[in-house]
Amino acid sequence: MSINKKKLTTSWGAPVGDNQNSMTAGSRGPTLIQDVHLLEKLAHFNRERVPERVVHAKGAGAHGYFEVTNDVTKYTKANFLSKVGKRTPVFIRFSTVAGELGSADTVRDPRGFAVKFYTEEGNYDLVGNNTPVFFIRDAIKFPDFIHTQKRDPKTHLKNPTAVWDFWSLSPESLHQVTILMSDRGIPATFRHMHGFGSHTFKWTNADGQGVWIKYHFKTEQGIKNLAVDVAGRLASENPDYHTEDLFYAIENGDYPSWKLCVQIMPLEDANTYRFDPFDVTKVWSQKDYPLIEVGRMVLNRNPENYFVEVEQATFSPGTLVPGIDVSPDKMLQGRLFAYHDAHRYRVGANHQMLPINRAKVEVNHYQRDGSMRFDDNGGGSVYYEPNSFSGPVESYEDKQAAYPVSGIAESAPYDHSDHYTQAGDLYRLLNDEERVRLVNNIVNAMKPVEKEEIKLRQIQHFYKADREYGKRVADGLGLSVPQEV
Ligand code: NDP
Repeated sequence: MSINKKKLTTSWGAPVGDNQNSMTAGSRGPTLIQDVHLLEKLAHFNRERVPERVVHAKGAGAHGYFEVTNDVTKYTKANFLSKVGKRTPVFIRFSTVAGELGSADTVRDPRGFAVKFYTEEGNYDLVGNNTPVFFIRDAIKFPDFIHTQKRDPKTHLKNPTAVWDFWSLSPESLHQVTILMSDRGIPATFRHMHGFGSHTFKWTNADGQGVWIKYHFKTEQGIKNLAVDVAGRLASENPDYHTEDLFYAIENGDYPSWKLCVQIMPLEDANTYRFDPFDVTKVWSQKDYPLIEVGRMVLNRNPENYFVEVEQATFSPGTLVPGIDVSPDKMLQGRLFAYHDAHRYRVGANHQMLPINRAKVEVNHYQRDGSMRFDDNGGGSVYYEPNSFSGPVESYEDKQAAYPVSGIAESAPYDHSDHYTQAGDLYRLLNDEERVRLVNNIVNAMKPVEKEEIKLRQIQHFYKADREYGKRVADGLGLSVPQEV
């Protein structure tokens, strides 16, 4: 049966006469530079990669929808949350953090959990992780922290000494280190883990009243994790295990889902709560601020093209819609700059125009030009503001909610420095088998650390969180808890 095939063309649309043999001066002569089809083909191939993300390089994505299941309009005027039953299309990207684009999925690492809601008021990105907290709480420490997670500049190997040196000198990391080293540090699949907005955000209702909130996506598949030996085997036998699992679950109609809940804190509680609610190394106890259901997210469609939809997807915690604002969390404040900046570098100044990133609503602004501006660039419309013509204008009712600030401008530390209580609470929440596995994971990870001083410093942190925790790690490493603790 003959198939009616289209003609192969060059990138400028001309038919290609020969795609098997390059043009040479005689059959044994050198290749001719006039074979522009060959030149174009090789040159474009050289440029197929955009820089991989400096963090969260390895990931998998899927499309789906979010449906409101509970009325939260007394807390937020966000249009996509305005009515029970309202559905909003979403795109999600899951990822590991430290590894490169080709690295194994089943490593011990936090997982990125980035959701883009294509709302009727523009895009809203909730760019979180599968952990409720983070290692550091001020963005100024982020490049140093990530250097320790990446490769050593001399050996080009991972460097456990750097990892534990940084953590032991940054005790605010203890809570997240405990989560990371626990069973949940290696989820069974992307489907079997929770997601968290991690930072504190602000919701504002139609009357201008605000509340602080934290987001929790609760997996409806249940939490499942991988045993260390299974994860290790999979990392070599099937390094794309999580990517494959997500793709085929969706392909086979087994659509993963999460229930979205929020914790809500009255604004005034932020002044008196026993932990700084803007410190991303801390949770808000669910006994103090119980989870309130908001909606349900279902993933039901795979990307058609990985590069176009997953690699070029750009998320930023600053991609907000009216009714949702940021908080003074110093880590979040830094991310507001760093994410879009990363995408401008990685994908280009007009990254938000690409189909996967573009809002489903009309986008009206005065940005013009820039590399790869492939739409009509505003055509002949007015290109500055204010203007006496019909250009788009600001809408006062959509201004970000105002809030009072005071103090002096300085490089200020957080007021609260209890790095131990919540890490200890987590340790005490684990059953004995989970504690044994946690300690084993830590001991195995710390064994290669080259300096005893670093190990002893870190043991002190575990001990301050919970004496048993510190003692068990010390025993596992053949050391004693330092006297001075
Ligand atoms: P609660 O008992 O009210 O909540 C405990 C939380 O811990 C639940 O969200 C539970 O989620 C989660 N959890 C249970 N087992 C584990 C585990 N092995 N690893 C990680 N998380 C687990 O207590 P509090 O809210 O007062 O928090 C106590 C400690 O729980 C905190 O110090 C923190 O480390 C941890 N935690 C707290 C969260 C929060 O937002 N408050 C969120 C996640 C952890 P689930 O059963 O659905 O897995």
